[in-house]
Amino acid sequence: METNDRVDSLAGVEFYSGILIPGIVNAHCHLELSHLHEITPPVRGLTAFIRAIGPLRKTSSAEERKAAIGYQIARMRNEGIVAVADTCNGPSSFPIKQKGPIYVHNFLELFGLRTTSIDPLRHSIEQCKNLDLPFSVTPHSTYSLNREAFAKAAEYAGKERTDTPLSIHFMESPEERELFQDRGALLEWFRECHLPADFAEEDSPAQRILQTIPRDRNLMLIHGTFATEKEIIALQQHFGDHLTWVLCPRSNARITGGKPPVELLRRHGAQIALGTDSTASSPTLSILEEMKVLAENPLEELLQWATLNGARALGIDSWCGSLEIGKRPGVALLEGVDLTHRRLTLHTTIRRLV
Ligand SMILES: [Zn+2]
Repeated sequence: METNDRVDSLAGVEFYSGILIPGIVNAHCHLELSHLHEITPPVRGLTAFIRAIGPLRKTSSAEERKAAIGYQIARMRNEGIVAVADTCNGPSSFPIKQKGPIYVHNFLELFGLRTTSIDPLRHSIEQCKNLDLPFSVTPHSTYSLNREAFAKAAEYAGKERTDTPLSIHFMESPEERELFQDRGALLEWFRECHLPADFAEEDSPAQRILQTIPRDRNLMLIHGTFATEKEIIALQQHFGDHLTWVLCPRSNARITGGKPPVELLRRHGAQIALGTDSTASSPTLSILEEMKVLAENPLEELLQWATLNGARALGIDSWCGSLEIGKRPGVALLEGVDLTHRRLTLHTTIRRLV
């Protein structure tokens, strides 16, 4: 066997100073909102945020919106992201995704308090099937659907797609719990709009999930920022390994000022993945920047949250999420890491190698 104390000087050897990691998985974003980058007004609170972005959704032309989506996909690819969980309200982004260059699982979200069936999603479902794009039908959240429609969205499974995950916004804001207590800003807004609301029939958003979704369904709960320890324990006991908590800390900081309950989740053995939410609430779709916000956690765990756990949640860990023989997960290089203390720094950068 050949030995050499200057391996980096050998012909055919590429030397990188940093940490080689598998391609990253962005486990939650909304590419359709990419054109809202830096134009969302600085409001505080979930209700105020949703009210603010509603009128902005169609302010750009269709071409501008498509260009913004293409730009964000290319940027994510350059930053080592190989797979994305993208929440969609329609099919406008599908042709761009079909061209690649990254894998996208499309979560077709059902929402609307007057919605009673999954009919509003039929066109997007057909488009995904025609274009052979991975997709799931999912309830948007516990606060944007009444019970009947929430259950229908959770139940839906195309004949051959029974194992597709759900992706549900959960406890991003205290207002979501208040709604089930018949009070709060969300309820006031719904009343102002004369929308039907049946939330007071149940105790909490967690209870609606526990009573509606079978325990063997793969489920991604997005945010969980204001989930209590009791709720985390109940959800963990119900779903076990089928549950992944997807944290988007920069979006939380922007919309509510809250922080994800990382310590509680770790203490109760929860599987954590990372997402970015959209550029309406986050400056970029960079998972590295999300990791930096959580950099006080062990680096090995952070890297697993950013790669393997998202891949498992999406059911793509056969090819993605870890550097293993038989997989084609992509390779990225982290530079500027504090290797002595094994911590990310403000100067840590990432670039895609493969
Ligand atoms: Zn979201």
